[in-house]
Parts: sequence; structure tokens; C-alpha cells
Amino acid sequence: MGVILLKNITVKNVVSDLLIEGQHISRIVPAGEIVDVPAGAEVVECSGKVAMPGFINMHTHAGMAMMRGIGEDIAFHEWLDRIWEVEKNIDEEYVYHATRVACLEMVKTGTVTFNDQYWYSDMAYKAAMELGIRPVLSYVICDRNDPEAAEAQKVECLEYFERAKAWSDKAIFVISVHAIYSVTESMVLWAKQFARDNDLLLHIHVSETEKEVKDCKALHGGMSPVEYLDSLGVLDSNVIAAHTLWLSDKDVEILGKRGVTCVHNINSNLKLTSGYKFKYNELRDAGANVCIGTDGCGSSNNLDMLEAMKTSAIVQKAWRVDSSAMPINELIDMATVNAASVLKLNTGRLEEGALADIILVDTDNYHFMSPAPFEANFIYSAHSDCVDSVFCDGKFVMRNRVVPGEKEILAEAKKYLNKIM
Ligand SMILES: [Zn+2]
Repeated sequence: MGVILLKNITVKNVVSDLLIEGQHISRIVPAGEIVDVPAGAEVVECSGKVAMPGFINMHTHAGMAMMRGIGEDIAFHEWLDRIWEVEKNIDEEYVYHATRVACLEMVKTGTVTFNDQYWYSDMAYKAAMELGIRPVLSYVICDRNDPEAAEAQKVECLEYFERAKAWSDKAIFVISVHAIYSVTESMVLWAKQFARDNDLLLHIHVSETEKEVKDCKALHGGMSPVEYLDSLGVLDSNVIAAHTLWLSDKDVEILGKRGVTCVHNINSNLKLTSGYKFKYNELRDAGANVCIGTDGCGSSNNLDMLEAMKTSAIVQKAWRVDSSAMPINELIDMATVNAASVLKLNTGRLEEGALADIILVDTDNYHFMSPAPFEANFIYSAHSDCVDSVFCDGKFVMRNRVVPGEKEILAEAKKYLNKIM
């Protein structure tokens, strides 16, 4: 069991000593109070650094990490058609390299856990394990209303589920339904039953665009996507709904009552002109669990959670004309504990007994030269390159900005891209 002592690390404004034993944080005490340092412990001096729980990116498509910039200056549905065209040609090798690049970026920007929705999750698993972070991976149902594809996907989903049983405890398998407009009703029901039978979370895009809502109403007797999914019995506290951007008051009430996790992906929404009036206050007050995601690099172009948090807050303040909207403490909860709770992970908090998923932020730079609280400067001033070191499951996955294998990951990805272009 690895033992690491972080000395003179600031935790919740107190200069502390933080002891990691195995996967967990075993002690957090004021600096200097640990006198019985376990034999063989690695002692790391952390003066000038602040510890935070690692970020949890609750909606992404890691495999799009090598599709940056291919769909610029077009709106959502044209963009999606273009992505589907490109995705006809991807294979396992592509997903492996792209997910390694994605994981590298996530580590460098302080993300320790990511909820992914992409093809070939075996390859994404391999990539995440190499980088050492915690993946939430799925089999993606997307039959595009083709009954033959639907039957084949049922078989394939079972195969992926069986293989995932051999995965490390660090990885979580969930089932994804792409969206109601790309998946047949019978497959949505099949996926929900499969999730229920096997105690899995279900990850789905919901009410991302106004068109999705209008089309759904036309097709399903005036019901919105949320009402429609609720009428199918799909919505409950095991559902992670990405976007939930175009919501009526009734939709908000349903999502709250069912305890659905709603994931806000502001940069993707802004860029694809999907919308920006995310009903944060209403969803929170109704009882929904609200989290933050970046969406994939095909639309948001990066996986930077700090950027996503800042943009979420300033856009929320702007459209509500309310500077108190989405306050800093709630923003941090959205990127950490709220996500941990739906994933049933003992993380997202710096506490004795919690998993040691920690980021160390370097505050010896101009972003933090102010008497303001750390969190304010971290979110509104700093960039994610202030993240100096990252732990996942008690192990360093980045140390002093160095990720083991970084050069090789990029060189191999470049070689692969050169080969296919
Ligand atoms: Zn998405």
C-alpha cells in the first residue's frame, strides 16, 4: 500500500498535512501535527499549493478528442450530420488514440473522473487505465430507427456488459441512449429495462435543441422530450440527462421529482447555438442534481472543466441579469460532489476516509495575488495550467505538470492521424 504525506498543503484555508494511505485520504490535520509518519511514506512538500477535489466531467465524448475543429461555424443538426459522416470511418484504434489524448488533457486540466459516451468503450477503458484516471464508460445505443441495427445493438450491448465485468473497480459501466430522435422507442425501453435489471446508470442527451422539443411534440401528442421519457417510465435518480436546455416549468418539475441528474454543457451549447438559458435555479430548487460537463471536443473543442465552470456562471448571471446566480460554492459542488453522488463514488470531497482524488493547485502566480478567497481566484482568474499535480485513487497521475508518457501519447496519436489522412 502506497503512503504519501502532503506537507504544508492548504485544505479549506488551513495549512495542513494530508496523509494518503492506499486509495484513501486517511488524515487531514493542521500542519505539523502528524508526528508518527508511517515508515516508508513518501513526504511531499506542498507549500504554496492548495488541495481541491479533482473535477468530475459529467458529459463528454472522449473519442472526439481528435475531431477538434472539424465542425466550425455551423449549427447543431448540421454539425451532428457532419460528425456522423466522420464517425462512419472510425475504428478501435482511432478511439484508443483519441481517448488517450482526451485523458491526457483531462489530467492536465484537473479532471479525475469522466462520464463518457462513445463507441468502442473497451478501447477507452484501456486508454483511461494507462493514464490512471477514473472512467465512466458506456455501450451507446443509437439505432437511428433501423430495426436491424437495433437487434444487433442489443447483442453487442450484452457483449460489452459481459466484458466490462472484468474491468478494474476504478471503472464504471453504464448504458447510453444517444437521444430520443436517434433511438427507436422500443430500444429506449429495452435500454431502461437493461439498466434496471443490472443496476446501471442510464446516460442520455435530453432537450438539447429547440428543434428536438418541437419534433418530439409533433411526434408524441404534444409531449416534450422530458414528458415523453417520463411517460415511458425512463426517468429516475439513475438517469444522467445531458443538456436539458429547453425545458418548460412542467419539465423542470418532472426532472426534480424524479431526482434526475442534469448536466450543463455551456460551451458546446453556445458554440452550436443550441441555446444558453439553462434553468439552473429552477432545476436545483425542484430537486434535480445539477452537474457540469464539457461535451466532446467536436463541439466544445476542449475538456477544460475550469473553463466550463467559469462560462456556466457568467452566462447564467448574464441571462438572468442576476449577479448572484450560480454562486462559487454551488459551482464547485456541481463539478465535484454532485457528480460523485450520482456515480455513488466516495469522492468529490476532501475528507478523511474519502478516495484520494485530489488536485494540487499552484498559487504562486499572479492569478492568486489577491486577498480574495482561493475559490474565487481559481474559477474566475486562473487557468487550468495552475493545476500542478493530480491524484486519482491515491496515486500521482500528474506531478509538477508532468504526465508519464505524455510525449509518446502525442507522438503515437500524430502517427495515427498521418496514417489515416
Ligand atoms: Zn453530448
